[in-house]
Amino acid sequence: MHTQLIHLHRAAPAKPAKRTSCNGCGVCCAAETCPAGMIIFRQRRGPCPALAWHGDEDGGRYRCGLLTSPASHVRWLPYAGEGLARTLFARWIAAGTGCDSDAEVG
Ligand code: SF4
Ligand code: SF4
Repeated sequence: MHTQLIHLHRAAPAKPAKRTSCNGCGVCCAAETCPAGMIIFRQRRGPCPALAWHGDEDGGRYRCGLLTSPASHVRWLPYAGEGLARTLFARWIAAGTGCDSDAEVG
């Protein structure tokens, strides 16, 4: 186990238990990049450049920018391909399958 300092918005929700619904706490993507993020941004450690704070949603939560605005992170993506890119990225990062992070926040 290693210890890592991450910075998150003060209004971010607390990290839930693994395998429960993702609440957008941002812990996973602040700590390290997922496989999609590693390939696109060429970095393993967080924070991922695509991690974006949405203060107007659910009292504030983080979302993956590859899903919300893929063209702003993948410059070569044609506008017409955004819908397809969202679908592919969602599968790639297993969006909607619940929290898969083992991180313990102290
Ligand atoms: S997957 Fe888990 S750690 Fe990552 S944002 Fe969702 S709840 Fe937070
Ligand atoms: S899910 Fe999105 S924000 Fe999180 S590490 Fe992967 S690419 Fe980055």
